[in-house]
Amino acid sequence: MIPLGEARELIVSACPVMDPESRPLAAALRCVTAEPIVAQEDVPPFSNSAMDGFAVRSGDVAEAPARLRVVDSVVAGDGRPVSVGPGQAVRIMTGAVLPDGADAVCMVERTRTESDGQWVIIEQPVPTGTSVRLPGSDIVAGGKVVAAGTQLTPAHLGVLARLGLDSVRVHRPPTVGVLSTGDELTEGSTPLRRGMIRDGNRPMLVALVEDAGYTTIDLGIVPDDPAVLRKVIEDAAEHCDALITSGGVSVGDLDIVRIVLREMCGQSMHWMQVAIRPAKPLAFAMIDGRFPVFGLPGNPVSSMVAFQLFARPALRRMGGHTEVFQPTLSAVTDVELSREPDGKTHLIRVVAEVDAAGLLHVHPSGGQDSHQLLAMAEANALAILPDGSGARSGDNIEVLLLDTDRLRSITS
Ligand code: AMP
Ligand code: MG
Repeated sequence: MIPLGEARELIVSACPVMDPESRPLAAALRCVTAEPIVAQEDVPPFSNSAMDGFAVRSGDVAEAPARLRVVDSVVAGDGRPVSVGPGQAVRIMTGAVLPDGADAVCMVERTRTESDGQWVIIEQPVPTGTSVRLPGSDIVAGGKVVAAGTQLTPAHLGVLARLGLDSVRVHRPPTVGVLSTGDELTEGSTPLRRGMIRDGNRPMLVALVEDAGYTTIDLGIVPDDPAVLRKVIEDAAEHCDALITSGGVSVGDLDIVRIVLREMCGQSMHWMQVAIRPAKPLAFAMIDGRFPVFGLPGNPVSSMVAFQLFARPALRRMGGHTEVFQPTLSAVTDVELSREPDGKTHLIRVVAEVDAAGLLHVHPSGGQDSHQLLAMAEANALAILPDGSGARSGDNIEVLLLDTDRLRSITS
């Protein structure tokens, strides 16, 4: 058996980083920047008001109350040249250009007007710079705004749009082919013939890849026929950047993924028994030195766990990430998690919840056999139990959070 960390390193380090390309901002969410981005302009581009109120010369309102003549009114988008002279004020709205001569804005709540708005009483002193946003106070021209290797968030896209960029250089996200193997597999609503089951892995793996931010090509169900599988893999190498298969990687006669990848790649195909449970058997091959094939196990829970532990980090590396492994968190187990020493790390499907103090608590989400996918569906985390005799209720354990959207507070 190969230790989990070693298997992960071996797979991730073999995967090539995708070439950079220019993408429109609207298609760049979650992509990873291929080069640093430097601002060509100040944001904001001009001094403007942070409040609705009156633009003033702070010297005029050093002593309050002060009575000023209102000489104009400016709103956001108004490009007229406007100025404030001694003893004057200009009515101003949030985002409007600060008039020449003014150096502060008094918020409207601290003013009164007289004579139908011709005069304004400033009720408190307004120091220079009050409620004024200076040019470059968000982003300075010439400054680095995004480092190379950054995964673009919605806020980054907003920043780039504010700078006037319409495209961005990112690593092309890999397109991933997904297929299932097995003569027993079918799909859809037609009643099952004896011995047949429906393919659950492919829809799940397609969704996992898309959830990770990558595009998929659904390559369907492939029968346990080496010639057919080989042809499908060769076609996939033409149209995809990586391939995920499920099933056919154990020691059985029909374990065709192992057989075909060995045939195609010889000894450079890694067929591993990883020291974990579930998801022990795994095949990994690099076709023509550029096309990774992740041969995940067929049991549905094993398939998903292997995706999370191996394929997802590898796809992240291809997509340009430098940090590919998700950090683990510490949690308290609310029940005993018993196990026998067997040389393997166990990954338990658990529900993680947050208590009133902000601590994570976990308990198993259901049955822990590798065919029991419902417990995986009900879990939002995997508890990592190192080799040994398990954890007692109240022990601190390590968890891998799968789904922050489903993290709930404990209500009792
Ligand atoms: P295998 O590794 O191909 O021997 O598959 C291991 C177990 O997983 C068997 O019980 C298969 O029937 C089952 N299995 C394989 N592929 C799938 C799939 N796509 N969906 C659901 N179960 C599967
Ligand atoms: Mg099979």
